[in-house]
Amino acid sequence: MPRDYGTTRSLRRVREPARLSYIGDDIHARPQWLAPRAAAAWARMRGAAEHDGVELLVASAFRSIEYQLGILRRKLERGQSIGQILAVSAAPGYSEHHSGRALDLSTPGFAPLEEEFERSAAFAWLCTNAQRYNFHLSFLRGNAHGIAYEPWHWCWHGKRAR
Ligand SMILES: [Zn+2]
Repeated sequence: MPRDYGTTRSLRRVREPARLSYIGDDIHARPQWLAPRAAAAWARMRGAAEHDGVELLVASAFRSIEYQLGILRRKLERGQSIGQILAVSAAPGYSEHHSGRALDLSTPGFAPLEEEFERSAAFAWLCTNAQRYNFHLSFLRGNAHGIAYEPWHWCWHGKRAR
């Protein structure tokens, strides 16, 4: 991994939270977790969306540094270069998912973790309402971190969270 990775990408090392709260299963029936305050904000946001007729599904939430390292190793084994891998995912230790505050969201009828999510009613709802729950889109198109545009990736920035 490039030694100056954090500096050139303006990414900070992310610590794992001391505690995690179970938020239900994801679209692949795997249990998912968030830091307690982010989990509470997520429950409120999901409920509000449901009330507006929008179904928000979880594709991924908390991921440990160890888990991210495993993803990197598998991609290297499949022959991808470090450059290719880091264009799509954050390096282990630098993913917002380690913080237990980031969510990859999906909605019925749209492929998870694909740009087409931006054409969903769920994405439109999030763009209007997510900030009320302190969730923000992390990786806009052409972001300064050199990470691909991710309309599905929302991070909670509540009190004491930055
Ligand atoms: Zn994500």
